[in-house]
Amino acid sequence: MAHILLRNRDIADIWQFETYVAHGGYEGLRKAIKEHTPAEVIQIVLDSNLRGRGGAGFPTGRKWSFIPKDAPIKYVVVNADESEPGTFKDRELLEKNPHQVIEGAMIAAYAIQATAVYVYCRGEFWDLAHALEERIEEARQANLVGEDILGSGWSCNMYVHLGAGAYICGEESALLNSLQGLLGQPRVRPPFPAQMGGGLYYQPTVVNNVETLANVPWIILNGAAAYKAIGTPESPGPKIFCVSGHVERPGNYELPLGLTFRQLIFEHAGGVPNGKRLKGILPSGASGPVLPATDEVLDAPLTYESVAALGSTLGSASFILMDEDTDMVWAAAKMIHFFKHESCGKCTPCREGTYWLERIYERLLDGRGTPRDLELLESVPRQIQGLTLCALGDFACNPVLSTLRHFRDEYERYVGLAETVPQAAVAGA
Ligand code: SF4
Repeated sequence: MAHILLRNRDIADIWQFETYVAHGGYEGLRKAIKEHTPAEVIQIVLDSNLRGRGGAGFPTGRKWSFIPKDAPIKYVVVNADESEPGTFKDRELLEKNPHQVIEGAMIAAYAIQATAVYVYCRGEFWDLAHALEERIEEARQANLVGEDILGSGWSCNMYVHLGAGAYICGEESALLNSLQGLLGQPRVRPPFPAQMGGGLYYQPTVVNNVETLANVPWIILNGAAAYKAIGTPESPGPKIFCVSGHVERPGNYELPLGLTFRQLIFEHAGGVPNGKRLKGILPSGASGPVLPATDEVLDAPLTYESVAALGSTLGSASFILMDEDTDMVWAAAKMIHFFKHESCGKCTPCREGTYWLERIYERLLDGRGTPRDLELLESVPRQIQGLTLCALGDFACNPVLSTLRHFRDEYERYVGLAETVPQAAVAGA
């Protein structure tokens, strides 16, 4: 498959404006403005069935269509707060080919007739954010950002904002709060960001992920049908799969949705090093349930629907692979520590629940666990799931419940119900 998102990966200076333009850059924005009305651009993206690549998989064109046309102030916010453990695709897109993302964001802005675009970068992307400001200035000098863009009469500026390194600010309403200078905590919804009162500065706002927007110039240039010819009807287009952990060739792989787990892990990423057996797969970083590396899983297609049917989520497609030596109790404990640390504390089930889950794992790993702790690990998530303001509460329950479900024997060894504690656990703890 010819690449779309990473097609210019081997051009060393594609980040430079002149190089990007020499390779067809900004032709998608020119075409959108010169040949299509904003409504037509929304319809093309609707027809392509491009689904959001930040994790939720919501259709991008539908998100754009929710914006009220008569609102005098509208915003596009680029979610570049890439914080999910195991995800590093947006960073590559922004570092190596920033103009592709700027172009996609400006097409989105044209489609909803936005008055400004804000790029919210995670705090650790400090150098990347400053470089991005220079790239935006290049686009401004070429009349692709700013006043009366390409003589269309439409004006729209673009700004970069650096977060302070909080995972929760990847959640769109917490991101909007942070961007406004408020505490980075999720908002109660409705109103949703697209509605009056729910977006940035309470104006209608589209929040799109970096990878989502990087698809848009190609879709405008090549049409919705060409895009839908890639992948599957429900999950069309290419996806960047981030592969890390116990794998021979970690990295970003742009592949059509619909290939199997086995193809991704073994054909493209080279499988598990040192002849070890693959034991567990996290298909969406720390936030999605762990899957066991069974034939049923390995032969399943990588689409939003089929990964959900297996009991996990495709999310942002951050594949963390764990070999046969991985202690799954230790791995779950690491993820619980992460979520407890990143809980914003706004709602009690998440704030208290993640704290108590971490205490239970500490007891297990210290050799103080009892069979009662396994009962608690099953009951505490029942008091978190579905009872929190944002999805982080559910995310925190996933590593607990999925490892208990698929690797229960490892837990039983920690509480004296089986003979030995795995050696890797002792080393890891
Ligand atoms: Fe904050 Fe957790 Fe509640 Fe989300 S679920 S609002 S992160 S306390």
